[in-house]
Amino acid sequence: MSSQNPVFIPGPTNIPQRLLNAMHIQTRDHRSPDFVSTLEPVLQGCKQVFGTTSGEVITFPASGTGGWEAAITNTLSPGDKVLVARYGMFSQRWIDLCQRHGLEVEIIECAWGEGAPASRFQEHLAKDKAQQIKAVLVTHNETATGVKSDIAAVRKAMDQVQHPALLLVDCVSSLASMPFAMDRWGVDIAVSGSQKGFMLTTGMAILGVSQKALQAMSTATMPRTFFDFRDMLSANANGGYPYTPPLQLIYGLKESLEMLFAEGLEQVYSRHHRLAQGVREAAQAWGLSLCAQSAENYSDTVTAIYVPEGFDSNQLTEHAFHRYGVSFGIGLGQMHGKAFRIGHLGLLTETMMLSGLATIEMAMADLDYPITLGKGVAAAQEYYRQSVI
Ligand SMILES: *Cc1c(COP(=O)(O)O)cnc(C)c1O
Repeated sequence: MSSQNPVFIPGPTNIPQRLLNAMHIQTRDHRSPDFVSTLEPVLQGCKQVFGTTSGEVITFPASGTGGWEAAITNTLSPGDKVLVARYGMFSQRWIDLCQRHGLEVEIIECAWGEGAPASRFQEHLAKDKAQQIKAVLVTHNETATGVKSDIAAVRKAMDQVQHPALLLVDCVSSLASMPFAMDRWGVDIAVSGSQKGFMLTTGMAILGVSQKALQAMSTATMPRTFFDFRDMLSANANGGYPYTPPLQLIYGLKESLEMLFAEGLEQVYSRHHRLAQGVREAAQAWGLSLCAQSAENYSDTVTAIYVPEGFDSNQLTEHAFHRYGVSFGIGLGQMHGKAFRIGHLGLLTETMMLSGLATIEMAMADLDYPITLGKGVAAAQEYYRQSVI
């Protein structure tokens, strides 16, 4: 199997050679005087990607899951109530994490394929006269279903009933690939990680934290040590880290930010939109339906596609892997066996995208799917030919 084939999973993403090189560095002393000049610009660059000037950026050696845990343990107390909508595997996992931390989780059930229901959030918050709900949790881009949610609409719903809860947002699979505006959307904590839009190896949780969230730390009694924002902020302010930092990742992130800014964030977002639209054109040409239920909720980083009745999506992704050496995302949770996912984020070009579409199309043809070989690829080609860069 060729190690040169890109992966088409929605994270971890393909790592550009330039970033592999940037991370390929020998151990350096993180207590040396030059550590601060390495970390500080990285934190500043991340602020720009989050869209915050008033917030802080806090990093931990962890995956995105650690970022979720940091967000809740720094701002909440055991027994606090949080409000969250369940519409996919990742919103479900965050719910599970909250429950295991002793939070009372008020769950709004949604169909998988829907996004965060702002109006239902508003109803729940309006009923909460005693203001017991301390945080609203939203997954911006539900990686299981390929659905993006309107965070500004959730903030508006909260403001309309003047509810003081914190707005905590998971943007792990959207940040640095799709527009995100932490300050403008009134997000209190935005949780992300190194291995998706930043195109790095896994191992760094990256959080944008508002002043309001920082204030919540003074009353939050959830136990926290490794993930304590206060330790990290005071260490960073003194040019250090409270423990050994993931130095290679910090160098990688510095380079990643340079790549993103050199391309231009707006161009990065429009490239992702164009790549995603090509995938959606292909799915339509195959006659397959998307899990995402409405066009305004289409994710530009991942597309979840249902296989026809009577077919097993796991067999399809396994065949693509064994026969062609290419990985696609499997269906998660209730979509297991029913859908596959095409990840289209990070370092991807139209040329790479077409190779992925051609591969999954061959795999479908091999397994006697009711598709015509070439039709999906042609639809994407036609779109890419005509879409303006
Ligand atoms: C990838 C991802 C995460 C984080 O998962 P880790 O494996 O812990 O990095 C969280 N939320 C979403 C929406 C994701 O796509």
